[in-house]
Amino acid sequence: MRDLKSFYIRTYGCQMNELDSEIMIGQLQNRGLKRVYEETQADLLLFNTCSIRDLAERKVMGKIGQLGRSTKKRPIIGLTGCMAMAKKDTLFKKLPHIDFILGTNNITDLNEVLNDVINTGKQSIRTNKEFEENLDYLVAKRDDKVKAYVSIIRGCDKFCTYCVVPYTRGKEVSRPPEDIEAEVRKLAADGYKEITLLGQNVNSYGKDAPEFNCLFHDLLYRLDKIDGIERIRFLTSHPVDITLDLMYAIRDLPSACEFVHFPIQAGSDRILRKMHRIYNKTQYFEKVDQLKQIVPNASIGTDIIVGFPTETESEFLETCEVFEKINYSVAFIYTFSERKGTPAMRFKDDIPQEVKDERLKQLMGLHQMQVSKQHQDLLGQTVEVLFDKKNKNGQLKGRTRCWRKVIAEGSDSLIGTIQPVKIHSFNHQTLIGELLIKQPIS
Ligand code: SAM
Ligand code: SF4
Repeated sequence: MRDLKSFYIRTYGCQMNELDSEIMIGQLQNRGLKRVYEETQADLLLFNTCSIRDLAERKVMGKIGQLGRSTKKRPIIGLTGCMAMAKKDTLFKKLPHIDFILGTNNITDLNEVLNDVINTGKQSIRTNKEFEENLDYLVAKRDDKVKAYVSIIRGCDKFCTYCVVPYTRGKEVSRPPEDIEAEVRKLAADGYKEITLLGQNVNSYGKDAPEFNCLFHDLLYRLDKIDGIERIRFLTSHPVDITLDLMYAIRDLPSACEFVHFPIQAGSDRILRKMHRIYNKTQYFEKVDQLKQIVPNASIGTDIIVGFPTETESEFLETCEVFEKINYSVAFIYTFSERKGTPAMRFKDDIPQEVKDERLKQLMGLHQMQVSKQHQDLLGQTVEVLFDKKNKNGQLKGRTRCWRKVIAEGSDSLIGTIQPVKIHSFNHQTLIGELLIKQPIS
């Protein structure tokens, strides 16, 4: 039997993957394994993977492929996450040196699968299609001591034509509100100040479980009552499911941050239909207008895919016009990547990569100009910053309620506290300011 003493874990992709890794780290540490940060020192290598775009998958295949060529004594290698689901049939063939494959819905089974591999010396795979709510979230080991991710709903029922998530993470399963409250209470007791509620579409929360009698905005009201949690964020919101009740909750609850990430994905109604986003531009703008009326200081974030099959130049310019109109504070912009098994595979991926790249560059340039202008407007203003760490230059680093990055000089004792900071300059994505308190809090 192999004696495992240490593990190395590498996480690719989204915040849900980061949280899943934190849970696996906890499981392995409870088993007595030590986390190491050098692959070469580990008895177990875990790769928690992402399938959202081709590049994400290629990086993992390249990385694990390299390990197979190593002639040294081999560690146990496990592949978890979305690639485990998307490529399960072919992974052992392409990467024969992998010892186990664990799907997104099987994290609970990590220790069992590891025992299987150790005891039998054979490869093992578990990739359940559906998520069962038996995962012990409380075991999660977080590096961050101020901010924590909290999963509230897994899976996605939306089936946008380009996206693998409904296939890699299964259908929507909401977590019981009492369990979420218990976890958040524990986080508060451990000193956490900010939580980010996670789901592919947090606004669907509770719809699959009418017995909870708790929709997303109800959950926010329940969590806001927990002492110690100063800020609640949430990611991601599908525009169709954003309700007036949610907007009132953001307005009325002291902890609910005035930042809503609700991606439009594209600016043309024809492309939105082809993407199966189930809203049109007018409906999206209506939601934005309602939000701005109810929460005038709200910032908005988006995701965008440029170069979706058949997107014309003028349709791309419609996306640019959306940016001009909304003035997003955050935008994640991607070029379309064809994903096996998705309906968009049937559309011809007819936009040359150079055109996709050019559109990406153009939109990123526009967004950067807008963010610079937003930062310019904040010069001389005072913002509330929750500091969570120091950067490599020894400056305090934190975020405003609207998720803007801020740095300032100050003492370590301010980490985990919210402070007023007067902004005097900025660079690229970061605001630079001066603390308005003169004495460090001890
Ligand atoms: N559920 C979220 C929503 O609908 O807004 C998004 C979750 S997805 C993990 C994150 C982002 O990846 C999407 O918003 C989309 O912009 C991008 N994405 C998903 N599939 C893609 C694909 N095939 N090619 C390029 N970008 C993609
Ligand atoms: Fe993917 Fe659409 Fe679901 Fe978001 S809403 S995870 S883009 S299918």
